[in-house]
Amino acid sequence: MKAIDGYTRTCGLIGNPVEHTLSPLIQNMLAELTDQKLCYVPLRVEEGQLEAAVKGAYALNFLGTNVTVPYKSDVIPFLQEIDPLAAKIGAVNTLVRMEGGFRGYNTDMPGLYRALCADGVRIEGEKVLVLGAGGVARAVAVLLAEKGAAGVILLNRTLEKAQRIACEVNAMAGKELVSAMEYGDYTKLPEGERYLAIQATSVGMHPHDDEVVLADKAFYQKLHTGYDLIFNPARTRFMELVEEQGGRAMNGAKMLLYQGVIAYELWTGSSVSDEYANRVYAAMEETWR
Ligand code: NAP
Repeated sequence: MKAIDGYTRTCGLIGNPVEHTLSPLIQNMLAELTDQKLCYVPLRVEEGQLEAAVKGAYALNFLGTNVTVPYKSDVIPFLQEIDPLAAKIGAVNTLVRMEGGFRGYNTDMPGLYRALCADGVRIEGEKVLVLGAGGVARAVAVLLAEKGAAGVILLNRTLEKAQRIACEVNAMAGKELVSAMEYGDYTKLPEGERYLAIQATSVGMHPHDDEVVLADKAFYQKLHTGYDLIFNPARTRFMELVEEQGGRAMNGAKMLLYQGVIAYELWTGSSVSDEYANRVYAAMEETWR
């Protein structure tokens, strides 16, 4: 990192917990590579202190912050402005300083999109299965609708949650694009159709490495590509099952990388080259060895 002096700008990560985050690695390395006087720190915010934290970050001249669990939706009332995509998704993970406060963005979904593009995975015209119906799955469904997916099926343990998201996203899209089903109902999917599947549940995260929401081989035979948003472990059981049936499988590390790259670009007004993004990615991979 460049020596900190009176010109150094501060950014940080608001969340709780923040101890295991890779964001300081991503952002401080980007600052070093692009020769910016920027320092990024974790900011643990206790329950009930979010408004004070956002106002405090503004008062302390922060250039911006990221926002993580559990505050991505709770932070919205404390923003000066919200980007339209973040408003649609209903979650903000990046605050950018503006006159009088912060403007909120969601860089998770543009980050996922950039990761999919980098891995040569197409959305436009694709039929996509999304596993899960939590906050991230909802955001993924919005992204898929925005980027022209041909159809989206949300599979979830709690069917009503998937149905609710399907209704909301269909209303936004102005057409019946998204439908919902329980996991076991994958057997009703048409024979011969091959799908992109995005694994957006928390099942399979370390230390539960061997867990997966669906273990049937027949399900994985329906996939040409499986994208797991989990990045720890680097190779999940879901990815193994996809590959065992001949599909391509990827984890969520590039999504994490690119949500950070896009936040950095918003803060600094610069654009990060593929070379620098790849160097940060290599450093992230080192931490998982
Ligand atoms: P969330 O809102 O808590 O949703 C969790 C989802 O997992 C729900 O669909 C839930 O099903 C399902 N689930 C949990 N335990 C289950 C179980 N035992 N059996 C079946 N389903 C289960 O979480 P979220 O915020 O959407 O995040 C989901 C995951 O996205 C995270 O865990 C993380 O791995 C990943 N993520 C990745 C990145 C990245 O940069 N790569 C960024 C953010 C998040 P029910 O609805 O039935 O409870």
